[in-house]
Amino acid sequence: MSQDKSSLTRKRVLVTGGAGFLGSHLCERLLNDGSEVICMDNYFTGNKQNVQHLMDNPAFELMRHDVTFPLYLEVDEIYNLACPASPIHYQHDPVQTTKTSVHGAINMLGLAKRTGAKIFQASTSEVYGDPKVHPQKEDYWGHVNPIGFRSCYDEGKRCAETLFFDYRRQHDLRIKVGRIFNTYGPRMHPNDGRVVSNFIVQALSNEPITIYGEGQQTRSFCYCLDLIEAFVRIMGTDDSFTGPVNIGNPDEFTIRQLAEQVIKLTNSKSKLEFLDLPSDDPTQRKPDISLAKSTFGWEPQVKLEEGLVKTIKYFDDLLKAGNSPAEVIAING
Ligand code: NAD
Ligand code: UDP
Repeated sequence: MSQDKSSLTRKRVLVTGGAGFLGSHLCERLLNDGSEVICMDNYFTGNKQNVQHLMDNPAFELMRHDVTFPLYLEVDEIYNLACPASPIHYQHDPVQTTKTSVHGAINMLGLAKRTGAKIFQASTSEVYGDPKVHPQKEDYWGHVNPIGFRSCYDEGKRCAETLFFDYRRQHDLRIKVGRIFNTYGPRMHPNDGRVVSNFIVQALSNEPITIYGEGQQTRSFCYCLDLIEAFVRIMGTDDSFTGPVNIGNPDEFTIRQLAEQVIKLTNSKSKLEFLDLPSDDPTQRKPDISLAKSTFGWEPQVKLEEGLVKTIKYFDDLLKAGNSPAEVIAING
């Protein structure tokens, strides 16, 4: 059978966790850039709906697979995103969360070793734990509880970083490690318990806004498409650049400020409700992104208000499509 000429020259890219929030935006971007994309996911927190609009594209392939099992494919690049990202989901089955990060990294690094592919790891600001250095730079080793409720995620991601750097030292792999700070936007799972999706769904349904603690803890929120731009730029760096590199928006807000902003932008009647702070909840978080700026000229373009407006529209459309808040929450569940 004759083959389309472009398919012989196109880059073939594997995105693990490709049906999730960030993975689906990444698949879309890579297809637009002219790559062939294999989207691999076990649908634990992602779903086919997120990539439904890509299914007719002949350069797109969707594959159900669990990253904790080996995978044999021929690929040029791998973006390893497979791992639940929200505390509710990663604490649901903590042993599986650690396996996903650790066995997943071993399997994907093995695949990169066999094929010679470049490989990107979606690491996290959680490797800094509850940081004693502010803002966080890449040379800070972190302040992480190894035995708490968040440890399956934090330590799993730390171990994945270790594996990436050992594969680099032992097998000379072309690795790229990006430490992602809180990111939000359309296609977030409405029921994943993360603060932006929670507050928006609560505000749109005039339910109380659930602030944990007094809301004085801080986070820095990056709009998803800004982050995807960073992924692609990191992958395009010279082979000598491995990271780790912080990627996130350095504009820092308290959780209370976020709640007030969401109420204002949705014209909501919601009141603030103060609940217990979960254990090991980091008190402050803000990336120092000078390495990203100087290495690949990246900084976020979308301000919080602009990104929230787009995200509010996404959740509002889900609600207006006739779904009750409970149904919106159950859509991906
Ligand atoms: P998400 O939960 O929407 O996406 C994760 C995807 O991985 C889902 O589609 C899920 O089904 C899939 N997955 C989970 N376990 C798997 C397994 N064993 N095998 C195959 N697929 C599996 O979360 P997200 O926000 O899109 O996060 C993507 C990546 O970015 C994650 O690795 C996460 O740790 C990292 N990250 C995200 C943020 C953020 O703020 N969004 C911050 C730091 C790091
Ligand atoms: N948070 C909150 N109310 C919610 C959900 C989260 O006050 O309904 C707080 C949470 O305690 C944390 C911050 O918002 O301090 C960010 O939480 P998220 O789960 O989004 O991300 P992470 O803690 O992993 O940064």
